[in-house]
Amino acid sequence: MKNAVLSTVITLSTVLSAAQASDIMLAKTIKPELRQKIERDLNVIENFKFTGKANPATLKTMNLFTLNAASATDWLNQRVNYIISENALSVFNLLVKRVIFVERKDVDFPNADVIPYSMDKEIQKNFVEIQDGMNAEEGFTVMSNIGSALYLGGKNERQVYGMKVSRGFLRKSERVAVTSPRAGIIQIGEGLFAPELTVNRENEGALANSIFRLGTFFHEARHSDGNGRSLGFMHTICPAGHDYEGQPACDENLNGPYTVGALMMAEMAKTCDDQTCSEKDKQTLKLLVLDSANRILPTTHKGEKSVEWDARPESL
Ligand SMILES: [Zn+2]
Repeated sequence: MKNAVLSTVITLSTVLSAAQASDIMLAKTIKPELRQKIERDLNVIENFKFTGKANPATLKTMNLFTLNAASATDWLNQRVNYIISENALSVFNLLVKRVIFVERKDVDFPNADVIPYSMDKEIQKNFVEIQDGMNAEEGFTVMSNIGSALYLGGKNERQVYGMKVSRGFLRKSERVAVTSPRAGIIQIGEGLFAPELTVNRENEGALANSIFRLGTFFHEARHSDGNGRSLGFMHTICPAGHDYEGQPACDENLNGPYTVGALMMAEMAKTCDDQTCSEKDKQTLKLLVLDSANRILPTTHKGEKSVEWDARPESL
C-alpha cells in the first residue's frame, strides 16, 4: 500500500513537471547572472495567470484548445529544449571543441525535392537570417534558433548535424542530433537584457520586461516549426518603404514568428493592471505588439496574398 501511494506521488510529480519550462536545459556556459534572468522569465510563464478569454486567432495560430500557463509552457517546451550562450559557436568552440559535428552523412531527408522558402533563390539574393536582433549589422545577438538553422543547413547538404551542449566542468556534454527543426537549440545573448530592449528601465524586475522577452521566446520557438516550403518559418526582407526596409525582419505568412510573438505578447499584456504594470509599460507593450504585427506582410514579394503556412514540423 505504501508503495502504491509512493508510485502515485511519483507519477503525479512526473505529470506536473512535464509542463514546466524548467525542462528546458540551460547550457552550463551561460553566465550565472544571465542564467538567473532567463530562469526568472521561464518561471513567469510557468505561473502566468492569463486573464479573460484568449483571442481566437491566438488559439488557431498556436493550435491550442485553451490558453493557460500549462498550455503556453507546453507549447514552448515542444519547441525549445536547449538554451546556449552567445559564444557557444565561437571559432574556438567550433574548431577546437568541435561543438558542431556531422552525425550522419548521405541522409535522405523528407521533402527533399521541396525548396524551403529560405533557400528560394529570389529570397536568398539578399537573405541572411540566422539571428533575430534589433541591430543585426552590429552583431547584437538577442535570440536565434540554431537548431532550426542546423537542420536546414544539414538538409541542404544531406547530412545530419549534431551539437554538443555543455553540461558543466568535468561532465560529458550532451550530444544533440539535429534530426528535425524541433531540435530546439536556442541561443540567447546578453542583448536580450540590454537597456534598448527593456520596456521598463527603472524597474528591472517589472512584469512588462518579462512579457516582452517571453514574446521573443515564443517568436523564436515558432522557428522550430514547418516542413518543406515552410521549414523553419524563415523571415523575408522587408520591402521598400517599410520601417525595416532591407532587413530580414518581416514574415510573408500569417502564422509565423512575428504573428506568434505579437499574439502572445498581447495575451500576456492583457493581464496588466494598476498593480503590475505602469501606464507607460502598457503603452510600450502596445507599441511593441504593433511593431511585430507591422512585420507581417499582407502581400508576398511575388504580389500574392499572404496565407498561413503549414506549421507541422518535418522530422527524420
Ligand atoms: Zn525570427
